[in-house]
Amino acid sequence: MAKTIEQIEKDALKELEAATDSDAVRALSVKYLGRKGLVTQYLRNISNLPQEMRPEAGKTANQTKNNLDAVFAKASKQFASISYLEDSYIDVSLPGRSIHQGSLHPITQITQQICDIFIRLGFDVAEGPEVETDYYNFEALNIPKNHPARDMQDTFYISEEIVLRTHTSPTQPRIMEKQQPPVRIISPGKVYRCDSDLTHTPMFHQVEGLLVDKQVSFGDLKGVLTTFVHQMFDEETSLRFRPSFFPFTEPSAEVDIRCVICKGDGCRVCSKTGWLEVLGSGMVHPAVFENVGYDTTQYTGYAFGMGVERIAMLKFGIDDIRKFFENDLRFLRQF
Ligand SMILES: [Zn+2]
Repeated sequence: MAKTIEQIEKDALKELEAATDSDAVRALSVKYLGRKGLVTQYLRNISNLPQEMRPEAGKTANQTKNNLDAVFAKASKQFASISYLEDSYIDVSLPGRSIHQGSLHPITQITQQICDIFIRLGFDVAEGPEVETDYYNFEALNIPKNHPARDMQDTFYISEEIVLRTHTSPTQPRIMEKQQPPVRIISPGKVYRCDSDLTHTPMFHQVEGLLVDKQVSFGDLKGVLTTFVHQMFDEETSLRFRPSFFPFTEPSAEVDIRCVICKGDGCRVCSKTGWLEVLGSGMVHPAVFENVGYDTTQYTGYAFGMGVERIAMLKFGIDDIRKFFENDLRFLRQF
């Protein structure tokens, strides 16, 4: 006698329990629900039953079909996720792949060190545009057109009135126009000059500082720069201030430090003099204050500036400035 539909379902579920992978489930699905499957055949045979039994038998058989369909699909899905886990098995005992981590460029490191020292001394950091107007780069800083000092800086002109800034000083009149004293800022950034050799590159970095207040003296300037040099190099480093000329300061002084290589005995780096020039400085020229509308009877100020590459070369003992910009990883990884 043919099996009842309940018996067929029971057998199917029993066989499914014994299945160990998705292939076995697929085979069961064919065996029971395929075109020649047991459930399919049963459904086909219903038409042979007496008329009054057909509706009930059809209903039960369809329920069984749907039930088995759902059970097989679920089992197949479970086996699939198990095999996914098996395929993506991770051997935690294998050595890891190291991540190549970059580091800050030596010029960035030195710029940050310089800024940190002045921030501790109460200065704010102010930045300005690298493409600058002739006015802020020159005229506001007491360098009128045809002034001989323009020849000191080999300027990249974009047009008659637009230049690539030759120093970070243009930030100073930009800040002073917006703010009454006291002003205490340093401006780090890239500057551009048409020059290239062992100690010059067409793009380099400067940090310039400005302090304006009542009763600011040259003594304050010497104090702040001495503190800076002692913190940047070491406490034993001596300084000397040499009279110099800059259009935007009066009086002006260049600052030398005792050679950090030979400690003053004289070597190739200091050209046998025992001294190294590291900073330009001076008391802000009254004409600069007049340009921004400051009262020169009330306020005085000092300004200073330095090349970051120069400081970095001395700190790290590097003799060719171009090394900083050749992107040679063997060089850069040393910092
Ligand atoms: Zn020396």
